[in-house]
Amino acid sequence: MKQFSGIPASPGIAIGRAFVFFDDEGVQVPSYSISASDVGSEWSRLVIAIDKAKVEVELLRDRARDEMGDEQSAIFDAHLLMMQDPDLFERMESSLKSNLRNIEWVILQLEQELVQQLSEIDDPYIRERTSDIHDVSKRILNHLLFRERMTLDDLKDDVVLVAHDLLPSDLISMNRDHVKAIVMDQGGRTSHTAILARAFEVPAVLGLGNVMKSLHAADLLIVDGKSGIVIVEPDDATLELYEGMRDRFIERERTLIADALDIVSTKDGKRVFLKANIEVPEEARAALRNGADGVGLFRSEFLFLQPGRVPDEDEQTRAYSEVLQVMKDRPVTIRTLDLGGDKALAELTDYSEKNPLLGWRAIRFCLSRQDIFRTQLRAILRASVHGDVRIMFPMISGVEELELSLALLGLAREDCDKRGIPYRKDIPTGIMIEIPSAAMTSDILAQHADFFSIGTNDLIQYTIAVDRGNERVAYLHQPFHPAVLRLIQRTIDAAHAAGISVGLCGEMAADPYAAIVLLGLGLDEFSMSGVSIPETKRLFRGVLAADARVIAGKVMTMTSPAEIEGYLKTRIDAESGTLR
Ligand code: PEP
Ligand code: MG
Repeated sequence: MKQFSGIPASPGIAIGRAFVFFDDEGVQVPSYSISASDVGSEWSRLVIAIDKAKVEVELLRDRARDEMGDEQSAIFDAHLLMMQDPDLFERMESSLKSNLRNIEWVILQLEQELVQQLSEIDDPYIRERTSDIHDVSKRILNHLLFRERMTLDDLKDDVVLVAHDLLPSDLISMNRDHVKAIVMDQGGRTSHTAILARAFEVPAVLGLGNVMKSLHAADLLIVDGKSGIVIVEPDDATLELYEGMRDRFIERERTLIADALDIVSTKDGKRVFLKANIEVPEEARAALRNGADGVGLFRSEFLFLQPGRVPDEDEQTRAYSEVLQVMKDRPVTIRTLDLGGDKALAELTDYSEKNPLLGWRAIRFCLSRQDIFRTQLRAILRASVHGDVRIMFPMISGVEELELSLALLGLAREDCDKRGIPYRKDIPTGIMIEIPSAAMTSDILAQHADFFSIGTNDLIQYTIAVDRGNERVAYLHQPFHPAVLRLIQRTIDAAHAAGISVGLCGEMAADPYAAIVLLGLGLDEFSMSGVSIPETKRLFRGVLAADARVIAGKVMTMTSPAEIEGYLKTRIDAESGTLR
């Protein structure tokens, strides 16, 4: 029995036999000299191969759109764009002419150059886009070399898919009925593979380094997508243990989801709203299945972090409309672009900043790139006829930024009026409270906003001066720091004094201890990843809001995170979701 530990990318437990997916990495791409008179025929071979590849990708794109919506099919639109990019054609032509080597060699060289350019960029989102370049290049090479691209479409048995790196097209085309889990050497939580695995609800452990080399076809594997553990050839006791865990997980999900469809109130009748955080439109369906009262945070910047291009107004309109239509009349809060910081984008933001998290990010970026901001606002307005949309501005640090943002929204409305485009006139407009200056002036901001949503991931980062992505100081990212709790309390009180609602959409919302404290502090809405909703609903159903108020009152008198956490553990049984 062996055990490996990787990045938990999609929750759930699966037990199954390994299907080790060797794609055609090992196959040699031929390299030979050609004469100048062969250039024309090499070029024709390329054109024919690209035409065939395009037909294939169009089919994949249509299938992705039918089965999963625009967000996933956009991956293939990007592949098609790459295959038509005049700059890439120019580079291939000049390489063919100057090197006088066969076209396969030219393609491979270009792929390596492009991957090298991306790998120099210090941003995981961008680096992960190399898989798209690889995907396109391999598809064209396969046509040139008359190789059938192996697909995962024909899997006939249930398997755990083991691969070095899976391409977006592999995941889209794989037989999802038979892939019970995914185990991969490469990939992070933000890779397409992780996004798609979560969207398909297939447990996945990624970023395992070199595990593929240690595994063999038909090895028995246990994959725990929540803890990031992969066990190879488990002994009987371990197998039994995980079979029990898997069955309990499935049963628990089933009952939790069944119960989650009802609205939730505490035992003493306080109605609590539980909404979903989503990154791609596809997640809206899962949010509904998990019983979300709406979407509390649509991180719209992920539309921009797809490979290859910046979505235009029409594409954005389609994406926002899709979410609104899926959610029917449930409210959907679209957060305007939070690009920059740890979500930099080569085409738009600035990579050379010394302190990107304190730099040209979110609303600061949007206010200086008003063309991009206004386009997004128009797209949201155009989509607004499809449902109950709300607009939320991220990283507001003071009232002037909010006033300017609202003025730009006014201009976007005028644009629509001029073009005769219908939109809802009553769209609530709110802000994220995620900077201490905003929390401290929440009474002022509340005069100009229709709602608040507290972004604790950033609020903690900026209050305690702790980079939320830095493992070394992760211990300081403390939701129960009295400074953080005071800022939250202040924000909730200011919102209520002004008669507006206040939610919280940081990771903290899904923590059972924090959820009770936040309920006790009077928070109106909780927004979290869809899979956490059923569990949180169960927690709230079992408690009295009055008890939560007592607990929160006590917590607010305490002096350190350790003291608070110790106390909460004595009062809340997180496993059974009950108060003691
Ligand atoms: C937050 O900061 O808490 C938040 C929800 O926004 P993001 O995680 O996207 O920065
Ligand atoms: Mg944030």
